[in-house]
Amino acid sequence: MKKYLRLLIEIVMGLLLAGALAFSYWSYNGKAHAIDELTDVSEGVDETKQELEKVNKELAETKEKAASFEPAARELAAVKGSFENGVVLQDYEAFIKAQKGPVISERQLGLGALRLLTKGAQDPDTIAAYQKALEMAEWSSRLKSICAAQNALVAAGQKVKVLADCVQAEEPAKEKHVVHWAYEGEMGPENWGEEFPTCGSGKKQSPLNIVGPFEKSKDVLSVSYKEGPLKMLNNGHTIQVNVEPGSTLKLNKEVYNLLQFHFHRPSEEQIDGKPMAMVAHFVHKNAEGKLAVVGVLLNEGKDSEAIKTLWENAPKSEGPEVVVEGVKFNPSSLIPAALTHYHYEGSLTTPPCTEGVQFYILKTTVDISKKQVNEFPFKRNARPVQPANGRVITAN
Ligand SMILES: [Zn+2]
Repeated sequence: MKKYLRLLIEIVMGLLLAGALAFSYWSYNGKAHAIDELTDVSEGVDETKQELEKVNKELAETKEKAASFEPAARELAAVKGSFENGVVLQDYEAFIKAQKGPVISERQLGLGALRLLTKGAQDPDTIAAYQKALEMAEWSSRLKSICAAQNALVAAGQKVKVLADCVQAEEPAKEKHVVHWAYEGEMGPENWGEEFPTCGSGKKQSPLNIVGPFEKSKDVLSVSYKEGPLKMLNNGHTIQVNVEPGSTLKLNKEVYNLLQFHFHRPSEEQIDGKPMAMVAHFVHKNAEGKLAVVGVLLNEGKDSEAIKTLWENAPKSEGPEVVVEGVKFNPSSLIPAALTHYHYEGSLTTPPCTEGVQFYILKTTVDISKKQVNEFPFKRNARPVQPANGRVITAN
């Protein structure tokens, strides 16, 4: 009898994964595919229902043969019924509500899958749950696990549409970047919202034009960055330096870890309507997963030694992270002594434009020479300033 229960659970687990995969596929290939993909999953749900009916039929036959199987049949009906009547979803929603701190993306994804099973693919709650999961996730870093899951499903004989990216991942020689967004043209900032809804509809987007009047900032910043191996990548949108654990930002009493820093040309933030030559964004995350970005405006002036080291080793074309042999770098060499700042709540300035990011734009600028600005391999990689929508900018 346990065989049937196991089969049912396997089918349900397969659907959870299929739902996640369909949505991942959406995030990669645009909204247009979403309904198709979710419909595919719906069809999967229908198929599963048929399967369940088959199982039930077999059960009924078995029941005739052996009345002693009845308790197990009831168990199976209960499991099936609890999805249909929403009990599992209710339990899960209550569980998520009871968790302290922000919801992790896996749980959000689980919520989407359960809503899909309970309410169907077209239900706005299902779409919203998946959408939120998408915005919470860093999809590029998840591609590997998505591919692994897809390949596992295919290997298990499931009908799964394999992402183009996953096929390419298996052929490293033919590595090709699929452009999802850009700084100009059809995939430019004005159209990011088509594929990444928050970029278009968010009300607290970055960057901002920083203009007074300012309220007083009570935030106290201190940085403790450590020297470490120089790990850099050209991700096709910017030059990024990845930082090993141990470099921290203290924001009042909260500790944030420096994850990476990267550059925009010209500066994304404007002061009184004017951009600087460039900006360096230092991206930090605390234990709860909250992000804080410290922006250092780079002003056209004299040569920067720190930039010289970085540019000498920066990959000219897009590719994976490189560890620069024999070169150490201390991120604090790009941070001015005074940490007086402008502060506002904003978002990632690149898709998916996730909100809830604290921005601290330092008032003290750091020099970079015109030659060095021109050596930066991206001519323009700055998102235009976004509406403040009544947001308060504080300063100290
Ligand atoms: Zn940035």
